[in-house]
Amino acid sequence: MYIKNSKIVAVKIGSSLLIDNNMKIRTKWLIEFSKDVKKLVDQGKKVIIITSGAIALGCKKLNLKKTSLKLDKSQAVASIGQIELMNLFKKSFNKVKLNLSQILLTLEDTEQRRRAINAKRTINNLFQLGFVPIVNENDSIATSEIKYGDNDRLASRVAQISSADCLILLSDVNGLYTKNPKLFEDATLIKEINKIDEKIEKTASNESGIYGTGGMKTKIDAAKVCQKSGCQMAIANGLILRPLDQIQKKNNCTWFITEVSKLDARKKWIISSISPKGELIIDDGAIKALKQGKSLLAAGIKKVNGKFNKGDHIKILNKNMIEYARGLSSFTSGEIIKIKGQHSNKIQELLGYTAKSEVVHKDDMVAI
Ligand code: GLU
Repeated sequence: MYIKNSKIVAVKIGSSLLIDNNMKIRTKWLIEFSKDVKKLVDQGKKVIIITSGAIALGCKKLNLKKTSLKLDKSQAVASIGQIELMNLFKKSFNKVKLNLSQILLTLEDTEQRRRAINAKRTINNLFQLGFVPIVNENDSIATSEIKYGDNDRLASRVAQISSADCLILLSDVNGLYTKNPKLFEDATLIKEINKIDEKIEKTASNESGIYGTGGMKTKIDAAKVCQKSGCQMAIANGLILRPLDQIQKKNNCTWFITEVSKLDARKKWIISSISPKGELIIDDGAIKALKQGKSLLAAGIKKVNGKFNKGDHIKILNKNMIEYARGLSSFTSGEIIKIKGQHSNKIQELLGYTAKSEVVHKDDMVAI
């Protein structure tokens, strides 16, 4: 029903669906999957696919094992595998006459507003042209500090940027179980999750496949992003043929349900940042002011954690270190250290130049 009610559907494909443990490409599966997508497109839906597989296919081509790869080698392998991946998609989707395009993103492309808007425009234009965008992380240039590393979180950010109504994470598990189903016979599949609490987080173990980097933990992280941006998300078994059709018929998966978000696109983007660069710990008076819809001023800031620049994503915490809001900082961390606890009219004197009076403007802030 969530897929049925969606105008924009994002689907993430894990490496293990495209290539099996014996390094055999699952061609039939992809051909069948293209029929799934075609069906949605014929119903007037826009579909965006986030796919892993560049490293797996690169390994296959070079006859290498992923586990033995160092970063620079894996970047080269990804570059070789990405073209294999797109060829595979192109061959399969040609059969159902769907046109594809490729978008390779890095973490910075989604975390910087200007670049995220750019990505959004490109995706919208592709939708209008009737193309199905296929997204992967730009593994050949992303280095470990600035990389998603797993396509689950990337998929959630792409779903949010492209305003998808639902995101389906297809992998080799049916969804989230009450216990590890490999170890406990009485484990049952959780069909719907409305709130990601501690229990759910604990239930999600951190096992991942041979090629994929995401385990259940990254899927839960993705679900958190989706819940913040009002996007329904499913974890479903993609190993079966026509998985999207099966989800609609049998609903044999875990849905993370969220209410439609009232936030505008920019605020959704702010609240679902993947990598906040720092933290501001603020006093009770400032929390009260924020609750009244005011901006955060220097006077209420007690402590600064992390090193960040103007415009970077930061977390705003209360004195008990509980996150209260997310925002974009109008100052660098170094500047805030100089002005924290001070009245706004002292900022010019303390910094030696004129600056804004709000450290985080109310328009750049969203309460959690
Ligand atoms: N981007 C990686 C690839 O294409 C996969 C990351 C993941 O497994 O989620 O191989």
